[in-house]
Amino acid sequence: MEPLRDSFGRTHTYVRVSVTDRCNFRCVYCMPEEGLDWMQRSDLLSYEEIARLVGVFASMGVTGVRLTGGEPLVRKDLECLVAELGQIPGIDDLAMTTNAHRLAACAQELADAGLTRINVSLDSLDPERFSAMTRGGRLDKVLAGLDAAIAAGLSPIKINCVVLEGENDEELYDLVEFFGARPGHFVLRFIEYMPFQARWHTSVPSAELRARLSAVYSLNLATEGIGQGPARDWVIKENGLRIGFISPLSNNFCSSCNRLRLMANGHLRTCLSDDGTPSLRDILRGGASDSELEQAIRDLVMGKRKSHEALIDGGTPFEGVMTRVGG
Ligand code: SAM
Ligand code: SF4
Repeated sequence: MEPLRDSFGRTHTYVRVSVTDRCNFRCVYCMPEEGLDWMQRSDLLSYEEIARLVGVFASMGVTGVRLTGGEPLVRKDLECLVAELGQIPGIDDLAMTTNAHRLAACAQELADAGLTRINVSLDSLDPERFSAMTRGGRLDKVLAGLDAAIAAGLSPIKINCVVLEGENDEELYDLVEFFGARPGHFVLRFIEYMPFQARWHTSVPSAELRARLSAVYSLNLATEGIGQGPARDWVIKENGLRIGFISPLSNNFCSSCNRLRLMANGHLRTCLSDDGTPSLRDILRGGASDSELEQAIRDLVMGKRKSHEALIDGGTPFEGVMTRVGG
């Protein structure tokens, strides 16, 4: 099998699959309050089409798939897609990133269908701030979703927290205490805010977050990573909580990027910053064979950018809108 390489020698083993651009939240750093011009239903890849494309990716050495969105749990019957993807030879890591608002009702069903891991986005433990940051989300429902996921055997759960200067950065210690109180069930990751088009918020660089935490706790570098992600992990000595810092701006991981992003309408984003790639959906619906799809994917990956150009204090913002891309 010929690995899926780009012109800079990077091998791709991980595909993030966005199943919808819609979401039941409107997080302040992700989406405008009024929402977006949503993709039409006929534009979305069907579950059958997603499974076929994932099969082609798997034949080129992709082993990990993460379902994302928008909010993946707003798309109907997601467990059917999970079951289909779980049967594809070579896919041994089938994960999902979710806001968990609807997770309590379906965590067990998703685990039974073959989901192996989840990441949950949670930026505040204060119900009012949570509702303000998500523009309407209920913290209690998300916490119930976390409990259901643990009961379904989906822990350790990675909690993704986007830290915004002056908005939720004072909650660092509360988050560490809350998730550290349930040993083994959570990994807490702090993500630098990435500017899409207009810069609406101020990122807190990972190094500064680490310094703020080090002033209160002892942080030891973790020896092994979990999953396929770019986080740099540490363990808090006082409570054993594993934490990670995802630093796309202050310390980007482009040189070792192993990921591709299949958008809900079939566009393959080879780089998070590149909005200009064509749609695999059109090639697939045009009657392409698997080997023609494989060639189309290889050609796109060959054209992958070396790096994005967003910086912590400027540079070029990412193109498009995060909720369409899937994080
Ligand atoms: N709705 C799901 C969720 O929120 O987990 C999945 C999609 S969401 C786009 C995926 C991830 O992207 C979330 O962890 C979210 O916090 C993160 N995200 C969204 N906009 C971001 C931004 N501007 N900068 C950094 N991370 C962002
Ligand atoms: Fe929705 Fe996730 Fe974006 Fe929040 S971060 S608006 S939950 S897609």
